[in-house]
Amino acid sequence: MGNSPMNGKARPVRVRIAPSPTGDPHVGTAYIALFNLCFARHCGGRFVLRIEDTDQARSTRESEQAIFDALHWLGLDYDEGPDVGGDCGPYRQSERLDIYRREVQKLLDSGHAYYCFCTAERLAEVRAAQQQRKDRIGYDGHCRTLDRDEAARRAAAGEPHVIRLAVPTEGETTFHDQLRGPITFQNSTIDDQVLLKSDGFPTYHLANVVDDHLMGITHVCRAEEWITSTPKHVLLYGAFGWEFPEFVHMPLLRNQDRSKISKRKNPTSLDWYREQGFLPEALLNFLGLMGYSMPDGREVFSLQEMIDSFSWDRVKTGGPVFDLEKLDWLNGEYIRAMPAEAFAARMAADRLVPEGTPDTTLLAMAPMVQQRVKRLCEVPDATAYFWRELDYPATDLLPSKKGQPVHDAVETRAVLEQVRSVFEQLPQWTTEAMESAMRALCDESEWKPRDLFMTLRIAATGRAVSTPLFETMEVLGREESLKRLSTAIGRLS
Ligand code: GLU
Repeated sequence: MGNSPMNGKARPVRVRIAPSPTGDPHVGTAYIALFNLCFARHCGGRFVLRIEDTDQARSTRESEQAIFDALHWLGLDYDEGPDVGGDCGPYRQSERLDIYRREVQKLLDSGHAYYCFCTAERLAEVRAAQQQRKDRIGYDGHCRTLDRDEAARRAAAGEPHVIRLAVPTEGETTFHDQLRGPITFQNSTIDDQVLLKSDGFPTYHLANVVDDHLMGITHVCRAEEWITSTPKHVLLYGAFGWEFPEFVHMPLLRNQDRSKISKRKNPTSLDWYREQGFLPEALLNFLGLMGYSMPDGREVFSLQEMIDSFSWDRVKTGGPVFDLEKLDWLNGEYIRAMPAEAFAARMAADRLVPEGTPDTTLLAMAPMVQQRVKRLCEVPDATAYFWRELDYPATDLLPSKKGQPVHDAVETRAVLEQVRSVFEQLPQWTTEAMESAMRALCDESEWKPRDLFMTLRIAATGRAVSTPLFETMEVLGREESLKRLSTAIGRLS
């Protein structure tokens, strides 16, 4: 059995993601959402979010909300979904149970599905025997030959049961994957899949196919880990007599050791990326880069550029290795590219700087800080010396070369006193004025700029590495800078 022809008529493109709300919102969900969204937007189609919450034990509303929040944060805006509505709802599978029961009844009536009354004990015995014989593990078809009416009566009388798909025992099932070409499975290797569980809930396979059909999904783009489920779905479409969607199985994101991305080896929660201060644009670019190449090979590209150029031909099939360093690099690029005003506003909005910091200060700091951070969460530490009392040992003020002191405490104190009086008299408190005055002072003394600037940097920031010295002092202001110089002089006494 293969994919059905599209009857020559192209249906309007509709794609979906179908995450299960169990645990934290996963970076893999965003990755698959990105490709679905790009394809949909490129073709003027629609992008749907469906919540697959049929695993009652593991699904939670908090996790569902976290998925909505994460997708909205990233700007992966879906056109239909539980929280935005749409014409094909409900978009939460737990609210569609009667639909699955209605649909599975059609399969019972047509003989494509059957009641199975096997107990857990019997299934365990069958399994153990198969293991011993080294046979394929799977249901042995015991209930498949039961009289249909009799089975229906037993089920109606309340006998515990599941409903299984009657998978053809011979032949093969082939489907076409957009990225991989035809993929064939021998039907003898496909289990008589449970469609409806004993608690009346559908399994993933039934609910997924019924919903994709009823929601008019034309292209199923999901992670490659679902490839082995697809023949079951293809058989189900066939059993229902429904048109197949196109299938696209995206390469999985991988850990460095090429195993499937896991939280033991990489942060997988989208909440973590938000908390660390990755910009949505940078994360999307990064996820795009994992599976997509731009026509001109560019690594930095926007969502709109990816949408405009989108083609399945440009999707890479090699398992992309998730490289956090690369994401840091990209995020740094995006941070530096932000207009200073936007970055200043962001520092305030995200409370990365003390509340009440004047806008002018933020704006003056912004370009310096943008050069020095890769994640927004680094801002408080990278800027701490703008606000906090400095805490450094007096010896840090003494310049040294290859571990040998260049100037002692007496000389250093003397030069700092000179600096203080020059700064007190400086007509204008600007970076240029400070720098030329300090270079002049070096010309007239034993001090090399390298040594003096380091001593001043410690005095002004308490750190050997900081934002540019004189710019920083300009932002600190004359009064605060002189105070810091006096503190340093005091420490050398
Ligand atoms: N509920 C599945 C998941 O959690 C959906 C897979 C699919 O897209 O068919 O990823």
